[in-house]
Amino acid sequence: MHLARFPRVRLCHRPTPLEPMDRLGRLLGGPKLFVKRDDCTGLATGGNKTRKLDFLMGAALARGADTVVTQGAVQSNHVRQTAAAAARLGLKCHVLLERRVPDRPADYETTGNVFLDRLFGATLDYRPPGLDMNAEAERAGEALAAQGAVPYVIPGGGSNPTGALGYVEAALELVRQADDMGIAIDHIVHATGSTGTQAGLVAGLVGSNAHIPVTGISVRQPREVQEAAVHKLAEETAGLLGVQGGIPRDRVVANSDYVGGGYGVPTEGMAEAVRLAARTEGLLLDPVYSGKGMAGLIDLIRKGRFGRDETVVFLHTGGSVGLFAYQDVLPGEGT
Ligand SMILES: *Cc1c(COP(=O)(O)O)cnc(C)c1O
Repeated sequence: MHLARFPRVRLCHRPTPLEPMDRLGRLLGGPKLFVKRDDCTGLATGGNKTRKLDFLMGAALARGADTVVTQGAVQSNHVRQTAAAAARLGLKCHVLLERRVPDRPADYETTGNVFLDRLFGATLDYRPPGLDMNAEAERAGEALAAQGAVPYVIPGGGSNPTGALGYVEAALELVRQADDMGIAIDHIVHATGSTGTQAGLVAGLVGSNAHIPVTGISVRQPREVQEAAVHKLAEETAGLLGVQGGIPRDRVVANSDYVGGGYGVPTEGMAEAVRLAARTEGLLLDPVYSGKGMAGLIDLIRKGRFGRDETVVFLHTGGSVGLFAYQDVLPGEGT
């Protein structure tokens, strides 16, 4: 693996910190907990998409693009980070927002990430739920090309082999950091959605022979569907990097027990996880991804899934801007 062979820009603040979560760990009475702070990637309040955008925007510039087109749910963190990256690089940004989440308050379409998308100057177009949104984005790109633009279309979540390179790099960074700090990692847990994060991590860990298991806590799809999608992208990413022998299927593990009512639909476990992280560690999780990811980690700890002498790293993928669109279900002062 040699990442310098791929075009890139350098938006991401790296390395992101690896910090203990001792107070949360003590409260749960479980393994030693650390958090990899990819909420601190430095672009427009941070998050995991910045790492992917280093490579995706590098590819867009290498192709001579003047416009990026992408898509996501209304409160997409990926869209917010892409809009900021485009502004930073002097590209136009056009996004399609899917009205995917039912029963949100009226300000769901004006606050949080959408507010920032507009601030970064992106043009927004809404879509009803259930369409093939990547196909919609391709069509929007073709329409812009017909008007003379040079568009580069980024799939939802930035999840293709180019975007996943960002998480190959994250895997290498985390292992080196843990080695420097003398921390032997037994397990990595994070939220998985459009699959690029887990696919890149697994490809990086397999490709570098770091034998660290990863559990992706699904925020949308059932386990089998999610594992198959992550594995497919991990294989494609490994292929792009020339990793010998591919990705063993059993290295891809997802858990869909914490999705609740669906993507973006609040759960009690999510609300508890957001509250605990805030009040024991001063950490901001988010309602759609990292809150459900942490809800999964907390529940697995309570079920005794990890030994007390083990070390678990929670990869914090960001998303705190989305909290503002969920004030109706999150606790306030003293609650
Ligand atoms: C997109 C996102 C994820 C999921 O990452 P994927 O690469 O899409 O699987 C997790 N957390 C946050 C905050 C995100 O925005």
